[in-house]
Amino acid sequence: MRDPDGLKDALRRIDNASYGAYKRIAGRWRLGDVELLIDHVQGDPFAAPSRIRLRAPTGISPDLIVDRDAREAIEDFLLRSLSEALDPGGRSRRASTPAHRGSGRSGAIELYRPGPEILERSALRIDADGGAEIRLRIGLPARGRRILGREAWGLLAEDLPQAAETLLDVVGVEAHIASVRTQRALRRQLGERGLIAFIADGSVLPRASGVEEGPLPGAVAFHSPPSLRVSLDGPDGPVPGLGIREGVTVLVGGGFHGKSTVLQAIQRGHLDHVPGDGRERVVTVPDAVKIRAEDGRSVTGVDISAFLADLPGGTSTSPFSTADASGSTSQAAAIVEALEAGARVLLLDEDTSATNLLVRDARMRALIPADREPITPLVERVGQLHEARGVSTLLVVGGVGDYLAAADTVILMDAWEPRDVTTQARALLPERPVPPGPLPAPLPRVVSRAGLAPQKLRTRSARRLEYGGHELDLVAVEQIVDRAQAATIGEALRFVHGHLADGNRTLPMLLDALDAILEDEGVEALSQWEAPTGDLVRPRRHEVAAAMNRLRSLSIGGT
Ligand code: ADP
Ligand code: MG
Repeated sequence: MRDPDGLKDALRRIDNASYGAYKRIAGRWRLGDVELLIDHVQGDPFAAPSRIRLRAPTGISPDLIVDRDAREAIEDFLLRSLSEALDPGGRSRRASTPAHRGSGRSGAIELYRPGPEILERSALRIDADGGAEIRLRIGLPARGRRILGREAWGLLAEDLPQAAETLLDVVGVEAHIASVRTQRALRRQLGERGLIAFIADGSVLPRASGVEEGPLPGAVAFHSPPSLRVSLDGPDGPVPGLGIREGVTVLVGGGFHGKSTVLQAIQRGHLDHVPGDGRERVVTVPDAVKIRAEDGRSVTGVDISAFLADLPGGTSTSPFSTADASGSTSQAAAIVEALEAGARVLLLDEDTSATNLLVRDARMRALIPADREPITPLVERVGQLHEARGVSTLLVVGGVGDYLAAADTVILMDAWEPRDVTTQARALLPERPVPPGPLPAPLPRVVSRAGLAPQKLRTRSARRLEYGGHELDLVAVEQIVDRAQAATIGEALRFVHGHLADGNRTLPMLLDALDAILEDEGVEALSQWEAPTGDLVRPRRHEVAAAMNRLRSLSIGGT
């Protein structure tokens, strides 16, 4: 390791030299209390900023780091305070100081900024002694293409270590750890209680706006109906709230009464949330998957015959492939794919569903003979999915009343207040829909390695990657939290191609293998660089599967 004077001298020597001379400061430097690791130096001031790690002491006492829950909560806490220190009040998912020290991205410090979720990320890790390693990017300063050595020194040896001093102040970390523990404890109780989700009384579900992730000011707090109220065990006694049971639950109500808002909170409930978010006591089982229609997507080798018999013109649906799915075929495929990846709960909203996949009403049945209609609507399968496969469904409907008949529980949202209307619904529609036959046995899909080749991998946005020579559209994969997680999913596919796919493993086997590695080595296992970078956010197997299934290059059948 080199000393600080060394860095100062090195920067002095390359001051005003052409940008490439920055390569000489790569390596490890000690600067007082902190250690600076310059892992990769950008080629020019306009390129992606340089990859830097900083090791700094924190105020965390080692005896706080007793287990993984504590570690994840502490890492999240520290990352939040550091990104806030770098970019006070910033709203984007990347804390970024202004690039004010010269040309291009000179002087910019970029660090991942957490949203309201608490989850595993590579941007900041702590060791057993409570020391932090921060992974960030820095635009090394230049004027034109000439090195600004003094500015670089100010940035690396003064600004950064100064920002890192924030990590010494850990007031509030105990509460943060306690909140994570409570959320995880509540979530663990779901299975024992036969629940798929739980919304504590007092929760605030709506968000401030479509782009702001904080709670809506003045929102009506959640209040469970007595007949559906359960009490989970919290750290300070019972936590009452709405328990959504396994089986088929339908959420009904007029437009704007808050149905989708409830579903959206539930579809993030597999993740912990920061205290004050409003959803920190909304918990969902880990394997709940949002399903929606997505016409135009590609589908590769998926047996959708449970929902669609062979199509007119003789196109087979067992298995079914298309480069341009319709609303109903895309949604049928999404259901089957989710089950394949291990979903235990399907979450659907009529607003984003293909109506003809959801239901067929009595008049349509009268008009179109059954043998002319290839679609078996989901309403005829939901009960069976639960009985035969143990897969629950939570469905939001505004208009399609047929689901009342299939529901075990019907919840009415009335001016943002849930009411239990199961008995009334049952009286209206006493007869359960009958499935046309058994569910087809799951079709094993062996993934061919070649179809996973990334060629060029680029993240365009939180919902769009470039992969395998095509655009990979993830707009319909709503449970991806942000751009960094989308990028990590791209890295996961690259990793599956490079290390796991062997032409023999089925898709769920690949997901199992990937999960095992992430569990063992952390999300850093996916990094394409030798030194860990700060841009990885742990994805769930379900989102990785959703991305893989949407690859236009995906090929099923082995080798
Ligand atoms: P629906 O799906 O029933 O049509 P939404 O869930 O889209 O209704 O909610 C309609 C509007 O009401 C949204 O603007 C949402 O932010 C707002 N909203 C939802 N829940 C609440 C609440 N508890 N308090 C205040 N406003 C809410
Ligand atoms: Mg809605």
